[in-house]
Amino acid sequence: MDKFENEVQTYPEARLVFEGLVIHRVPYKERDLIVKLLLRNGMVGSFYIYGGQGGGKSHKPSIFELGSMMRIMIKDQKTKIDSSDLMISAEHSRIWEPQSVRHDIRAFYLVCLYFELISKFSITFQPGTSDYQNLDHEGVFSVVSNALFYIEDALVKKQFEAGQHLTLFMVKLLFHLGIMPDTDNCSYCQEELLEMPGVVFMPANGQFACQNCAQGENERGFLLRIKKGYQTRYQEYAGFLGTNFSECDKLIQYFCHQYHLRPVELRSYSLLFK
Ligand SMILES: [Zn+2]
Repeated sequence: MDKFENEVQTYPEARLVFEGLVIHRVPYKERDLIVKLLLRNGMVGSFYIYGGQGGGKSHKPSIFELGSMMRIMIKDQKTKIDSSDLMISAEHSRIWEPQSVRHDIRAFYLVCLYFELISKFSITFQPGTSDYQNLDHEGVFSVVSNALFYIEDALVKKQFEAGQHLTLFMVKLLFHLGIMPDTDNCSYCQEELLEMPGVVFMPANGQFACQNCAQGENERGFLLRIKKGYQTRYQEYAGFLGTNFSECDKLIQYFCHQYHLRPVELRSYSLLFK
């Protein structure tokens, strides 16, 4: 994503630089932190940060807030701890932080939900084994970093609406995961869906069908919204209108079905729409 333009650099003394979004953080010992970053290449890397909780004599705040974009340098890939995938940070800095998210409870839960969803399918970066230059999954980073950037943007402009952001996010995520339902043809008779008066969505199959082939509520609005979401660029999110909770829920149900989860396992999801 252009907002965080940078490349991985390998320094002469084999130092390695990683950049990614903090998607999970656990305090460890008195002042240390273990963080997971969604790296630019779409994999998730784990890092040990000495003094990462902040504090100390000067009461420094931690810069490892959820959603912050970090740059972490490790000395070499042999610094990992035992047989774990933890890499020890030698130096770190923050590139960007979502300042408004922590002051809006729904935006905060939404971001937590995104990170929960990511953790259900992301691939672990294994130091010494994984290839950082493998960009097969970078689409996921692009979806998540854009999502965060524009949640922050909406909060600043006081036009944040959780359902709008979640629907757009889910459509883009499903597309990048290669599991977008076919929105063009009935999955049974192959007739063009938009030519039919009524269409039905079947989350278990991830398919749309015409009402001649399947029974159910007419989901034409939902179909059109998915198509619109697919065409809407993140920077145009404000024009993506008409979303509602029941459509978000269908997309979440569908995602869960694909990954053999139950929506109740997504803790932030129940908090979001309380
Ligand atoms: Zn049909």
